[in-house]
Amino acid sequence: MAEKMRFNTALLHRNRQSDAKTGATMTPIYQSSAFEQESAEKLEKIFHNTAPGFSYTRINNPTIAEFEARIAGLEEGTATVATASGMAAIFNAVMNVVRCGDEIAASASLYGGTMDLFADLKSYGITTHYVTEMTAEALDAVVTERTKVIFAETIGNPRLNVLDIPAVAEYAHTRGIFFIVDNTVATPYLCRPLALGADVVIESSSKYINGSGNSISGLITDAGRFRWDVRRYPDMEPYLKMGPFAYTAKLRNALFRDTGACLSPFNAYLNSVGLETFGLRMERACYNALTLAEWFASSGLVDAVGYPGLLDSPDHALAAKQFDGGYGAMVTIRVGSKERAFSVINRLNYPLKVSNIGDSKTLVLHPESTIFCHGTEEENRRAGVYPDLIRISVGIEDVEDLIWDFEQALARE
Ligand SMILES: *Cc1c(COP(=O)(O)O)cnc(C)c1O
Repeated sequence: MAEKMRFNTALLHRNRQSDAKTGATMTPIYQSSAFEQESAEKLEKIFHNTAPGFSYTRINNPTIAEFEARIAGLEEGTATVATASGMAAIFNAVMNVVRCGDEIAASASLYGGTMDLFADLKSYGITTHYVTEMTAEALDAVVTERTKVIFAETIGNPRLNVLDIPAVAEYAHTRGIFFIVDNTVATPYLCRPLALGADVVIESSSKYINGSGNSISGLITDAGRFRWDVRRYPDMEPYLKMGPFAYTAKLRNALFRDTGACLSPFNAYLNSVGLETFGLRMERACYNALTLAEWFASSGLVDAVGYPGLLDSPDHALAAKQFDGGYGAMVTIRVGSKERAFSVINRLNYPLKVSNIGDSKTLVLHPESTIFCHGTEEENRRAGVYPDLIRISVGIEDVEDLIWDFEQALARE
């Protein structure tokens, strides 16, 4: 096999195995809660991680393990833990390194669910401070001795601002802080945050990786490079003997297992199927998004277009440097008023009116009245949410049909 497989080849061949027992080319759905071992000794070894094998699906399962191995390869990480949802991934990834009294420094343009989670964590003694731009000056204003995590998204949603991953990684690491990136919107097709310096990457694989919107799931992948200072992260001490697997070992042996955040084998299987066409879908969706964004910009029918692929986007240079294969599949437009935004959405034929992103079908949403309805005006502005903003998750339809549809929906009477 070629030493360095290219992306689509790797999706099909890296860390993939035909089923040892039957030759089935997809790892079957091992829909079993428990796995029988031949002896008490073998089960003891499995529990002590001294022999390979499976005991109980809450801890791991062959269908899930295969999906995890394929993702770890894609992300260029040491290990991946698949979770029941993207939110379970964020909760577990963060809680694995913080304790009561600790603080998180986060980008202000985060997924709404993540902000709700961080607000909930306050009752447990974990405080989050937000910064509008992830610059050293802005971070300096909120980072303290108690800051244990810096958290940001590769492409903020719906602001579509691009994170300078190497710069933030350097900032975090010179201060001994763990850096977590939510790469759901950019996906591992465009960007591998671990290769750019992040310590852990999480994704909601409910979105582009699955592709067909048929199962909720999340991913936590560790770079295995962080230099743990046990005075800052005392709970890591028992796991340091695991070297580059310390973070994942702590996760698997503690919170992930204890919260029961496991993925179902059936959903792992659907994700493995989705993974085979993930590159092709992203290529097409990114092409459609760029074509549509350029069309919006030249149409005279919208007040503003947000897309990092447009040459006049403030994020274009950074996106061009960090991403390969395109600029993502999310586009936003501003249309003047909330009333017009609603009427445009209602006149569209193809896009589905749903709150998620990353389906093969084009999806539209009015963020302000839905996923950001709990935010204050000030919080929403910082997240790039305005009353007249429409978010479009561009799918893989024929782009001419999407342009036709937006043209008729935007036509002024
Ligand atoms: C959807 C999403 C999540 C949450 O994922 P679920 O699978 O819905 O729990 C987290 N971050 C981002 C950026 C998302 O788009």
